[in-house]
Amino acid sequence: MKALIWNGKKDVRYESVPDPQIEHGRDAIIKVSTCAICGSDLHLYDGFMPSMEQGDVLGHEFMGEVVELGRENSALKIGDRVVIPFTIVCGECDQCKRGNFSVCERSNRNKAAAAKLFGHTTAGLFGYSHSTGGYAGGQAEYVRVPFADKTHVKIPDGLTDEQVLFLGDIFPTGWQAAVNCEIQPADTVAIWGAGPVGQMAIRSAVLLGAQQVVAIDCVPERLVMAQAAGAITINFKQESVLDRLSDLTHGKGPEKCIDAVGMESHATRSFDALYDRAKQAVMLETDRPHVLREMIYVCRPAGILSVPGVYGGLIDKIPFGAAMNKGLTWRMGQTHVNRWTDDLLKRIQEGQIDPSFVITHRMRLEDGPQMYKTFRDKEDGCIKVVLKP
Ligand code: NAD
Ligand code: ZN
Ligand code: ZN
Repeated sequence: MKALIWNGKKDVRYESVPDPQIEHGRDAIIKVSTCAICGSDLHLYDGFMPSMEQGDVLGHEFMGEVVELGRENSALKIGDRVVIPFTIVCGECDQCKRGNFSVCERSNRNKAAAAKLFGHTTAGLFGYSHSTGGYAGGQAEYVRVPFADKTHVKIPDGLTDEQVLFLGDIFPTGWQAAVNCEIQPADTVAIWGAGPVGQMAIRSAVLLGAQQVVAIDCVPERLVMAQAAGAITINFKQESVLDRLSDLTHGKGPEKCIDAVGMESHATRSFDALYDRAKQAVMLETDRPHVLREMIYVCRPAGILSVPGVYGGLIDKIPFGAAMNKGLTWRMGQTHVNRWTDDLLKRIQEGQIDPSFVITHRMRLEDGPQMYKTFRDKEDGCIKVVLKP
């Protein structure tokens, strides 16, 4: 079959790879109908995630049709239409029972590598390095889904691929980021990053009733999309984020802050950003946490910092004293996708939200290598790419 593979930093290729096989009774093979490129894939593309290997099949946002089933999998039938959550879940371990799906204790087959990095294992992920299980991803014609009897969202008739695809990742991710803010009616929610995840967080914060939602980015068309959802926008290249957020909250600061940027944040005119670039270049720091510093500084005391943005390793010069003395609460994590999908699917069916608003590019899978670059460099107005095998 054909798939997008990681061939090294900034080198994604469309190549032939062996067809996936059923390896375990709970597996399913999915014929992919639509897949997407996620902002998290850019961290692989840019070479910031360790334990990728040449030839790894990429992709963790995908959906399709069940074409083959393991013998123990009675939860699915051939022909079922499913969205696959990017976090692989066993559904049976203590964490899955608590709904903490992104830290499933059983789905990562390279547990030892993850535990060495983080102290404990985290869930297996599709197409996302060997420390998350080394599972082939879904930017491909077919994909093997381990623990498929639990790792799926069944899609009822009458909904298009584009309406439901993002249930597997960015929609629940933006939603969880907003839910983690415990939004109160008088709250200002400030959201750094108006990429696909930021866009979902903005709409979620609006749906959850925030008084004021502020979106921060530097890409004009992303800010325009944020505005269309009712957000006030700040272009960090043109104005001071700290001053503007202070003005918008009468000097009090936003009660809730969401980092939808992650480890590759950009900054202008800031000393800390130069420091991060220099340290990252000589591998003394893995991530660039400019947004985290800004959030700690600007957040109203007793506020909440919610971090869906992905960080990989070690960060430096975090004003922890400010965070502690201001009494800030941190919430973060990879998304517990299945915790949210029943509710979010219902909201899509009811027409409360149509997540396809974010799509700007509809291409073929073979266009993938070029589209990684277009998405990363925000060329051609690109906000979200979907690919058809
Ligand atoms: P993206 O790269 O398209 O979006 C990031 C946006 O941040 C860009 O628009 C960029 O211009 C903006 N940005 C950069 N520096 C900034 C700054 N200093 N202030 C404000 N904005 C800044 O990616 P995305 O798909 O929206 O993903 C965003 C993050 O969410 C990534 O780190 C991704 O890995 C992560 N993610 C996490 C989960 C999860 O489960 N927690 C799931 C999906 C994605
Ligand atoms: Zn993702
Ligand atoms: Zn589990």
